[in-house]
Order: sequence, then C-alpha cells, then structure tokens
Amino acid sequence: MNISKICGKRNRYKKIYQKRERTGSEVAMFEHKDFAMNTEITFKIFGENAPEACDDAMLGIRQLEKKLSRFIPDSEISRLNQAAGKRPVKISPETRDLLSLAICYSKASKGSFNILTGALMDLWDYKHAADAPEKTKILQISPFIDYRDLILDEHNQTAMLRKSGQSVDLGGIGKGFAADFCMDIFKERGIASAFVNIGGNVSVLGNKPDGSPWCVGIRHPRRENELLAAVKVTGKTVVTSGDYERYFVDHEGKKWHHIMNPITGFPAESDLISVTIIADNSTMADALSTAVFVAGIDEGLMCLSKFPETDAILVDKHEQVFITSELEKYFQCIENIKVNVIERK
Ligand code: ADP
Ligand code: MG
Repeated sequence: MNISKICGKRNRYKKIYQKRERTGSEVAMFEHKDFAMNTEITFKIFGENAPEACDDAMLGIRQLEKKLSRFIPDSEISRLNQAAGKRPVKISPETRDLLSLAICYSKASKGSFNILTGALMDLWDYKHAADAPEKTKILQISPFIDYRDLILDEHNQTAMLRKSGQSVDLGGIGKGFAADFCMDIFKERGIASAFVNIGGNVSVLGNKPDGSPWCVGIRHPRRENELLAAVKVTGKTVVTSGDYERYFVDHEGKKWHHIMNPITGFPAESDLISVTIIADNSTMADALSTAVFVAGIDEGLMCLSKFPETDAILVDKHEQVFITSELEKYFQCIENIKVNVIERK
C-alpha cells in the first residue's frame, strides 16, 4: 500500500526549528493536519523520523477506524451490532483490547461510562434531531443499555451482545485509544518529542525539544474561542468532555448535548458542564472524562480515586472551577478565575 497516497505528499514541514535541550543544535518540527474518525487531527512531531512516524500513525488511525466505527457497515463493531442477540463475531486483537478496556471503565464508573450507549445515540440522532425523542421510546430501550451484556470470549477471539437491538458505541473512548496508539508508534520510531490532538484529545510525548514542558490549553465551556486554563505537562494526555461539543436545540429552545446518562436515557444533568482529565493514558482519560461528566463531582471523584495519578479540572453550571490538589503544581489560570482546590477521595 502506498502510504504517501493515503497521507498526502510529504511536504508538510513547517520551517519552525527549536533548539535541542542538550546539544543546542536545532530540530525541525513536522506538522500534519488531517481528518479521520469523524474529527480533526493535528500532529506536531520533532526529530529525523517525523515524516515516517506521521505516515505510520495516520495509516494506523485509518485502519483502526475501519475496525471500530459503527458507521462503517462492515467494521468489526458494525458486525458485532448487527449480530446482537444472534451469534458471536470474530474480532481482531485491537478491537478486543479496546472492548475489554471499555468494559473495565464501564464497571469502574458503575455504568456512568457505558459502552452500550449505541441504541440511545441512534434514538437521539444528533445529526438530524429537532426534538427530544418520546419518553416511551427512551423507556423501551433503557434495559438494553447494559454493558454487562457485552461478552468477550478470549479463547475463540469473539465478542457478542446478548440481546437483539443492543449496540456498542466507542465514541466516548475511541479517540483516546487512537492517541495512545500514535504515542506507541512515535516511540517505536525513536521520536522523543511530539504533540497529538485528535478532536480535542491531546497527548504529548516527552517535553518540547528545548526541554520545557508542553503547554496544553483547556477551552472555556461558555466563552467561544477563549481558554479557561492551561496545564504544563510532560508525557501526558489531557482530555475534555463538555456539553458544548455536540448538541441540538429543540423547538422550545432547550439545548440537548451528546453525553448520555445511561440510567435516565437523557443527556446527563450532573451540574457539570466540562470535565478535563489529565493522566498517563488517553484511553482511560477519554472514558473517565465521559464517566465523571455523567456521575457529577462527588461520585466522579470517588470513581477517580480508583485511578491514582489522574487529575481533573471540573467546571459546574455556575462556572465554578474545581481542580484536584496535585494539579496546583502545573495548572495556570488564563484569567482571574477563582479556582477551588479539592482533595481526591
Ligand atoms: P467527545 O465528543 O469529545 O468525544 P466524549 O468523550 O464525552 O466527548 O464522548 C461522547 C460520545 O460518547 C458520544 O458522542 C457517544 O458516542 C458516546 N457516549 C455518550 N454518552 C456516553 C456514556 N454515558 N458512556 C459511554 N459513551 C457515551
Ligand atoms: Mg470520552
């Protein structure tokens, strides 16, 4: 397969040079913008193997998408959903890894993150909806939104959904998985410094070449094009779930966002409007940002306590900002926003 055909020609070097930390010599930044997994992707990669690393990562993302998207009719996840209640389907090791992580985070969050939200997302149909679905319809499908009905068979390398009508949706975790995948590729290619943004899921490798930490901005949930804060991080991921990302407004002017409370079948109303998770692993951070958004501050922090070295920035509907205490060291407020420091449970 011709990689440059998929990723475009290798002419995307930005003439931005940074001094290397130790040698003082200069290193070029390779910047690439793309679209996959229904979202925008940006890479900034430093080092000699940057173009190859970029091509490998983009190729890998597209291959993952072909397996994981429930909107591609012959993806593994589509086949799993189509065979719901009927039979197990063969899955690849990558799909099995992600499904098994998704089950783990569904359990750990007591179902606030629920990998079986597919049927709910179909009912709410964010692309076309002008009104909330009828409550009776929501109640009808509620019993189907149960992550315990996803059965993985390690031995036979299959997955199965217990009941017809059930549907896996990886929208709340797939971008994090793809970001972790990119980091692995970059490391294999000998890259020591890189920045990846997959639809708002940011992961960084190491420091910037000059040795200083990466600075990752966090969007203000209510002020368009304004930042709420920034964090200075080395080799971490910064993932946000917010009610402003995807929504529709109904005939009465009520806004319905895209993060579901799997218990009620309605968009979550936990009083949080934005949740950012800072952690080492982006798959986990992606699942947890969705989970904490649904669970709210108290239950969300209890859930986070199961994952050490995971920090959070929470914004409630009164625009009060809460950060976990360890974050104080590397958190920067953009304006004079009052920040409440909370101890993790
Ligand atoms: P983003 O849209 O930035 O990826 P999230 O990571 O919070 O935000 O993912 C939201 C997506 O996850 C939804 O579009 C849907 O596909 C799926 N989803 C919605 N609610 C849940 C939930 N409670 N648990 C798991 N996945 C969910
Ligand atoms: Mg998520």
